Order: sequence, then structure tokens, then C-alpha cells
Amino acid sequence: MKKIACTMASLLILASCATKQEKDDFDYTVESFADLEILRYKVPGFENLSLKQKEMIYYLSEAAAYGRDILYDQNGKWNLAIRRTLEAIYQDYAGDRESDDFKNFEVYLKRVWFSNGIHHHYGCDKFVPEFSQEFFVEAVKSIDPQKLPLTDGASVDDLLNTLVPVIFDPTVMPKRVNQAAGEDLIVTSACNYYDGVTQAEAEAFYNKMKDPKDETPISYGLNSRLVKRDGKIMEETYKVGGLYSEAIEKIIYWLDKAAGVAENEQQKAVIEKLIEYYQTGDLKLFDEYAILWVKDLDSQIDFVNGFTETYGDPLGMKASWESIVNFKNLEASERTHIISDNAQWFEDNSPVDSRFKKEKVQGVSAKVITAAMLAGDCYPSTPIGINLPNANWIRHIHGSKSVTIENITEAYEKAAQGNGFNDEFVWSDTERKLMNDYLFQADNLHTDLHECLGHGSGKLLPGVDPDALKAYSSTLEEARADLFALYYMADPKILELGLLPSGDAYKSAYYKYMMNGLMTQLTRIEPGKNIEESHMRNRQLIARWAYEHGKADNVVEFAKRDGKTYVVVNDYEKLRNLFGQLLAEVQRIKSEGDYESGKNLVEEYGVIVDQDLHKEVLARYENLHIAPYKGFVNPVYTLVTDANGNITDVQISYNEGYAEQMLRYSKDYSPLPICTPIPVSK
Ligand code: ZN
Repeated sequence: MKKIACTMASLLILASCATKQEKDDFDYTVESFADLEILRYKVPGFENLSLKQKEMIYYLSEAAAYGRDILYDQNGKWNLAIRRTLEAIYQDYAGDRESDDFKNFEVYLKRVWFSNGIHHHYGCDKFVPEFSQEFFVEAVKSIDPQKLPLTDGASVDDLLNTLVPVIFDPTVMPKRVNQAAGEDLIVTSACNYYDGVTQAEAEAFYNKMKDPKDETPISYGLNSRLVKRDGKIMEETYKVGGLYSEAIEKIIYWLDKAAGVAENEQQKAVIEKLIEYYQTGDLKLFDEYAILWVKDLDSQIDFVNGFTETYGDPLGMKASWESIVNFKNLEASERTHIISDNAQWFEDNSPVDSRFKKEKVQGVSAKVITAAMLAGDCYPSTPIGINLPNANWIRHIHGSKSVTIENITEAYEKAAQGNGFNDEFVWSDTERKLMNDYLFQADNLHTDLHECLGHGSGKLLPGVDPDALKAYSSTLEEARADLFALYYMADPKILELGLLPSGDAYKSAYYKYMMNGLMTQLTRIEPGKNIEESHMRNRQLIARWAYEHGKADNVVEFAKRDGKTYVVVNDYEKLRNLFGQLLAEVQRIKSEGDYESGKNLVEEYGVIVDQDLHKEVLARYENLHIAPYKGFVNPVYTLVTDANGNITDVQISYNEGYAEQMLRYSKDYSPLPICTPIPVSK
């Protein structure tokens, strides 16, 4: 559910991919600093959209860009003041711009841009500035005070008195989101969703609101900050006339324009309902909007725009602002349609015992999209897939939309070409060529089969408790879906349906799966630790099981060269049979609720790390210096008009740099005031 984040987890797998596709000279990489790499993504197919559709993407992109300040303020109450101060220095500082202090300052600002605040976007810890406090004070004092974010009556000294400890004192606002059990999570978190209230007070406030009998509850607290004013606890709602009004009004202005060029009535109704919700802050309207949105399946253009995910609130109630503007990749979505249409054939022909098969399969339809604009909590760091809405009862009654963002995945993979990963870990040019030629397609097909069929296949025997596998259930469920995909990828039916271009294509995915599961995914485990995360357990389970059970036939082996270990697949057909056998067994465990067998399978193959191999893999990976986190700059959209001011086209360009884009957004899309006034000394 929710965002499929391209965290370290998926990134490192992607790092092992190379893509086929014709060589293009598009430059996917922008720059690197700290632990970050900035990329750019292409928007293939934009030129082929109708003028009206292009216009719509332009308007939705403007609406997206205007939400940026909201996220800064949500992430921490001084973030906007800090960003504006840093940007003033970056643009106007007349001192030595070649000094170490200035260069370290520049990295710090770039990290603040990336995280939309002063805490790491993933780890949540406050950045440690590598420039001196003296440099910062001197630099701020050297800037024209008009350019500094001085709220009413505040002097430059007041600004410094407020910001210096926030930036330099490690004990002040150390963590954006604190999850350590036993502490007051609100008081110890630097995020700005609460002000002056304790965790106990916040919980009591919302518990009083909730009705346990309500089967269609609103998302309590989703769009507000909870504050204590004069001893009274109240919500400051994000809406027109409320908190963040200046930004929300701009968002509404552009959404309204988008509604004017909507593709159909349904889509128009979606946008209008969203506007109504932004105007009132009424969470019932937000649910109505979500239901309309999930039912809008015909439009090619789609978007997320609003207070959506709750990872940034330690209590998981309040949502950060985000937006993704996108359009359906018709060609790639055809793939998911073909798979859904043949769902019953796949079920009937699987190697699973017929008692455990579904008589009637509902193919789950998912679509493949092309991102056109990323904003708020999806920018620069962005997910590679989305599954929304989040309200459980809406998902249950009305369904959800599940999307794969293929142009983002592609950008990750293209950018990973030449990072040395494959040269380091792949056995020979034969495997590298397979991966180059087919892996992009095979990987996408794997995801489609996994999502559209794997998770939906099979059934429980009557009377089996769905929770029988307890703590092992998610690992085994992921294993089942992966095995379904792996098994079928090599099936002649796939070629018949035109889902892969060659009978060799599946081998690229098999090789990668085994290399990753047996070896390279260990780069994400700390030295000395075992595997805990269920997707990782599943991958090692499958790879280790197939390795062990194929040993007699030498199906897969660990080979050594120059003291380094490699995975070699000797017999792809036998490997497929092994996947089929394991699929049958995992489905049996699931269908019968056989906890003991499930537990043994996971514990024996999925958990324990080979410590020597782990050390070796970590050392080799470290030498590659691959930045663990990546993010994106957006393309630039420009309206083209004729002499009468009529829009004749929307042009897309890709040549904007990272700092350039950030400064442009700060200049053109920054309607919010500093919401928390700088304290003024007497
Ligand atoms: Zn899954």
C-alpha cells in the first residue's frame, strides 16, 4: 500500500540493472554532492499529447509547483526562514566564494533543498553543517537586510539568535520524526504538525473525536496543525483563509484552469471536488474527492495534489503536501491489460496443486504512467510507484489505483549504467549482454506479473485462518508473488502474448534475481546483522532455496575469480523448474496455513547472512562510491502563444540545473510568509 518508495532498497537493485533500449544521448545525471545524486527524467510521449492535454499538464504543474513552501513549513517551523536566508547568501555573498566555508555552505544549502528542510529526507537526522558558525554570522551580516526573511520588527540579530542554534546546536531539533518508543514523540520531533501540545494531549484530542462504530471515518487530523493557544487545544486547518492559505489559493487558481481543459466530465468533477475541499478544509469532501479520483480510469492525464502521506508525523495522522502530475503510458499499460485478460490461463496452468487454485480469477488492473512533474514530498526524492487512496474503507469499497512510474524507473536505470556495479558483480560479458539487451523489459514484466497476478493468485482451503502464518506471512506472500512472476517469465505463453521480445529475455531477470538474492542485496545490511525486511528475506529465500536444491545438478554456483565471488547460472531451464517447485510448496503452505513449514522455510533460507560473503560484498560495493540516495529535477514547461495570446503549444525542455531550478522555484513559486514570526528581542 501507499508509496512504493525508491529507497535504498529498490535503488540498489536498480543499480544492478542496465537497460537495453537504443542508446540515447539524453543526459540523465545532473550532479552529485554529500550522499545524493541528482538526475533528470525524460517525459516520452509528451509531444504526442493533444494541445488541450498539454495545457492541462501545464496548469497542473503550476498547481504542483506552488505547494513547495507548504512542505518546508510542515517539515520544521524555521525551514522557510532558513532556506530564504541561505539563498540570500548563496546569491549575494561578496566574500571569498572559493573558501572551504563557502563550498561547504553550498553543499549544505543543496541538502536543504533536497530534503525540503534541515533534516535528512530519509534518516530524519539534522544535518551537521561543515561551515563555521563565524562564517555564517559574518555572511548573514554582509547581506542587504531587505533580502533577509525578517518578520515584523525583527532585526538581523534576532534572525541570527533564532537560526544559529537551530542550524548549529546538535541538541536543538535533532530529529524531524522521532519514533523511539517511550519518549514523547511529538515533543521530541522537529516536524511542525503540532505546536505546544504533548503526545498525550494530541492523542486524547483525536480519540475524543473518533467514533469506533463509524465504518466510513474521515482521516482525522489529516490537514491541520494541532496547537495550544491560551491553554486551549485546537486545529489550524490547511485551507483558504486558514493555515497555508496563500499557497492554497495559488494551487486552486491553477487547478481551476486545469478543470477548464479537463478531458471529460468525470475528471472535471474530480478537480472541482478537490478545489471545494481546499476551500473548506472539510475532510468529508476529501473522501468524496478520493472516491471520484479512484473511479476516474478513462482519462489519460492524472494527478495527485494534496495532503497525502503521513510518514512525516510521528503519530501517522497528519499528511505532508505532495503532487505528481502524470499521464498514462498507453503502450506499457497495454502490457498490464494483456496480463489481466489472460489471468485465468495463468492460474489454470501454474505448477500449483489444483486444490489450491482459484476457479475464478479477478485480474487486478494496474497502469503504467509517465511522470510529468514532481512536487512537494515527491520532489526531488520520488517514489517509483503509487497506490492510493490511503483510507482503508475507500480502498475496500471503491478500490485503489496502483501505478508504476516507468519513466522514473527508466531514469534510475539509465543513470546507473556505467556506475561500475555490473562490472564489479556480474560474472561475464554474456550475462552483461543479456542484461543490457533485455533486463529493462524483463524487470517491468516481473513487476506486472507480481502485482497483477502473483498477489491475486491461489486460494486458502476452507476454514484456514488467513493470519495462520503470522510473522512469516508477508515474506511468504512476497515469495509467492515473485515466484509466480519468475516461473511465468520463462513460459512460451509470454512470447506468444508478445510480452517479451526473445526466448532469452527471461534469463536476464533470472541472473539478476539470483545475483541479488544470493549476494548483492547484502549491501543494504549492516555488518554482522541478519536480514529482517520481508522483501529482502523473500529474495534470499528464493535464491538460496534454488541454489541448494539445484546443487546436485550444479544449476547455480558461486565461482571465484581473482579472490572475488560471483554468481553463475549454469542451467536456466532447470532453474525455472526449481522456481515452479518452490511456488507449488509456498502456495501449499499458504493454502493450508502450515505455519511450521512456512517458518522453517523462511528461517532456513531467508534470514541468515553468510558473514564472509557479506564482508566481501560490502568492501567491493564501497569502492564503487555509488550515492545511496537519488532525486530529480523537473523538466521546464513553457506556454507558446500566437500574436493574439492564444495558446498554440506547450514546450518541454530539460536543460535546467539543480540550483537553477531550486532558485527559480523559490523566486516564482513562493507565496507563503514565514508562518512563525522571528522572536524580537526587547
Ligand atoms: Zn508484492
